[in-house]
Amino acid sequence: MSKLEDIVSLCKRRGFIFPGSDVYGGFAGTWDFGPLGVTLKKKIMDAWWRFFVEERDDMYGVDAAILMNPRTWEASGHTATFADPLVECKECKSRFRADKIAEGISESVTTEEFLATHTKCPVCGKEDWGPIRKFNMMFATHVGAVLPDDDADVAAKNIAYLRPETAQGIFMNYKNVVDTFYPSLPFGLAQQGKAFRNEISPRDFILRDRECSQMEIEYFVRPEAWETEFEKMRELQHEFLEGVMGLPVEMIHEYEVPEGDRAHYSKRTIDYMFDYPNGEEELMGLAYRTDFDLSNIARESGKSMEYRDKNTGEVLVPHVIEPSIGVERLFLAVMSAAYGEDEIGGGKRVVLRLPENLAPYKFCVSPLLKNKPELVAKAREVYGLLREKYGDVTWDDSGNIGKRYRKQDEIGTPKCVVVDFDSLEDDTVTVRDRDTTEQVRVKIDEL
Ligand SMILES: [Zn+2]
Repeated sequence: MSKLEDIVSLCKRRGFIFPGSDVYGGFAGTWDFGPLGVTLKKKIMDAWWRFFVEERDDMYGVDAAILMNPRTWEASGHTATFADPLVECKECKSRFRADKIAEGISESVTTEEFLATHTKCPVCGKEDWGPIRKFNMMFATHVGAVLPDDDADVAAKNIAYLRPETAQGIFMNYKNVVDTFYPSLPFGLAQQGKAFRNEISPRDFILRDRECSQMEIEYFVRPEAWETEFEKMRELQHEFLEGVMGLPVEMIHEYEVPEGDRAHYSKRTIDYMFDYPNGEEELMGLAYRTDFDLSNIARESGKSMEYRDKNTGEVLVPHVIEPSIGVERLFLAVMSAAYGEDEIGGGKRVVLRLPENLAPYKFCVSPLLKNKPELVAKAREVYGLLREKYGDVTWDDSGNIGKRYRKQDEIGTPKCVVVDFDSLEDDTVTVRDRDTTEQVRVKIDEL
């Protein structure tokens, strides 16, 4: 089993992920994707979009604004309940998320329950706590021309939030899509985009960051059909995670969330847990949200969210099943499953066994020697051919061939193609396989 530090180190060393605002010493809870990271992330997101939207007849995509009318968050319950239990050490003034520093308590922990755990401050070691306070995790900002010397009322009137989830942007467009596309039930609206959470203590690399990308679907169903549709959606997630993302089935565990721990809107939730290097953590969630959101929007806006059946004329408010996955969590799952160390010719090798459809590059092309113009010319020709055919191809003529293989193994390139003197004679090249390290001669036009 790999360690999280190994993956963090590989991500930085090879240009997948860097700490956010690195030159200024970082900025807690933010991460930047480098050239290879953004390619892998895009491939993950595009594969999701293809699987859940483009290859289906019952899905529609939307891309809503990040800044939304603050009434959105009143209606959704986020203003009131999107909060974590914050506890402050009276001795050193450090602040923590109570349920993360004490064993065996939940997010809804009371001050008494927390004190009964006799947790010591992770910073100063004292046991002298203030009361548990609810800390709302939405990032607030001001919209329009608000000046520092404006009074509090002006500032409060112009407050807006960076969306804490993409889901509400989808609900916002439910009526727009129903009125313009007349979809039959069941149908889904899908969205990918950024969401922001002011985590009290961001940690575990990209698992708990303050800014993340989400991929969510709100799947609208007849109320009486929710259980069947929930089961279908549940299976579909496995098809995607295992079939398209290449995650090993034994690393994914379903966890049926008990009533007391479910989000305020959900009647049934399954968390898909994943064996990350630092332990089992949530990878994604599947929730039955009933008509909670549409009914709240109808109440708050005064507009009807009813759906009229084209054939029967029946009028109803659809219920919703929501698969929700964080791109960074999926990214790290893919990296963890792919990361491996083995031994080759007596030396340690780090290898990233990414599925071919996700690897940043499918091929690396290089000339055996970079100081032989005829080899370089031939290799350039092969490079051009492959790039036209596959798109994701990289060129590497640095160092010796062994070093190039090590580098391509570390970034997950499935095949390395090397042009040598024989290539000039018989139009064949050496193709070396990342996983087996075996080399075969292949005709250039059969690549
Ligand atoms: Zn302390």
